[in-house]
Amino acid sequence: MLSTTHSLVSAIIVSKIPSPAISFPLVIITHYLIDSIPHWDTGSGLSNGTKTRKQSFFHTLIDLTTAATVVLLLFQIGKSLSIRLWLGVLLGISPDLVESPALFLNYRPSPIDKLEKFHDYFHRSWKLPYGLIPQVIIIAIVLLILYFT
Ligand SMILES: [Zn+2]
Repeated sequence: MLSTTHSLVSAIIVSKIPSPAISFPLVIITHYLIDSIPHWDTGSGLSNGTKTRKQSFFHTLIDLTTAATVVLLLFQIGKSLSIRLWLGVLLGISPDLVESPALFLNYRPSPIDKLEKFHDYFHRSWKLPYGLIPQVIIIAIVLLILYFT
């Protein structure tokens, strides 16, 4: 999934479940669960050569910037800075961040190689534009929970 999708899911979990002892593990579990839904993300196309590492890196920077901006606008405007929220968001994208040296630099020291294999076990890809459909649905669910609960 895009970092934007993971970040919004993480933010809604952390904002609705005040205890980090519950919300933080749930954020990690949710990352792998929603990655198992076929999707497109900024790393899609790297393994089959339809995208270069440079393109993927640039798209990832756009995605991370979008993620931070959307979380800021939806969860922080008019509220005091929440370290817990941002830690939860960071945790929610951490499986992808940990994998970034392998993805962009082809650098896989242990335990990055093991984490990458674990991540790949769950990860299901889908081409554009279909790979965005599940993410639009997930984000819509996040917005419904945010505004109606
Ligand atoms: Zn992931």
